[in-house]
Amino acid sequence: MTLPIVGYGDPILRKESQPITKDYPELKQLIADMFETMYAADGVGLAAPQIDRSIQLVVIGFRPYDEKTDTYGPEDERHVLINPEILEERGKKEYFNEGCLSIPDIHEDVLRPDTILLHWFDEDFQEHTEEITGMFARVAQHEIDHLHGKVFTDRLSPLRKTMIKRRLNDVMSGKVATRYRMKRKK
Ligand code: ZN
Repeated sequence: MTLPIVGYGDPILRKESQPITKDYPELKQLIADMFETMYAADGVGLAAPQIDRSIQLVVIGFRPYDEKTDTYGPEDERHVLINPEILEERGKKEYFNEGCLSIPDIHEDVLRPDTILLHWFDEDFQEHTEEITGMFARVAQHEIDHLHGKVFTDRLSPLRKTMIKRRLNDVMSGKVATRYRMKRKK
């Protein structure tokens, strides 16, 4: 089942979300619904606050890209992050053009480290501590920001923020049309 996506301006996107345990009700179904919602909207990542749940749960799915051969892998690389924590930023910082399903129509270059040391639990509550890099690291950082009440536009320079202010206001007042379902304003 696809779920409606919460838009920029909704207070849940500014809240610190809560860690969860194995007993979280219907977790497998929720994860399946989040993947379905993300793929239906052509996203590569989705954090639980974006579907109106203030919990530390993220899904990620993208086609791996090989720079050397300039080709995409045959299958999606998928990850579920539960209670993720960035232990260390590593590697060099680089710009990458990001967008967000909660902030339709806005794409901006965001500076983040290309490699991080990440601790998380997967959908079976297996514990991981791994150095991750590339697209996985990029999307993970964007989604983990959502768990802490942050969105990618917060990371832009004051000048860029000023330049996109009107478009952010349009998103807040629901003036931006999307192909996917967004949660209606209360
Ligand atoms: Zn986002």
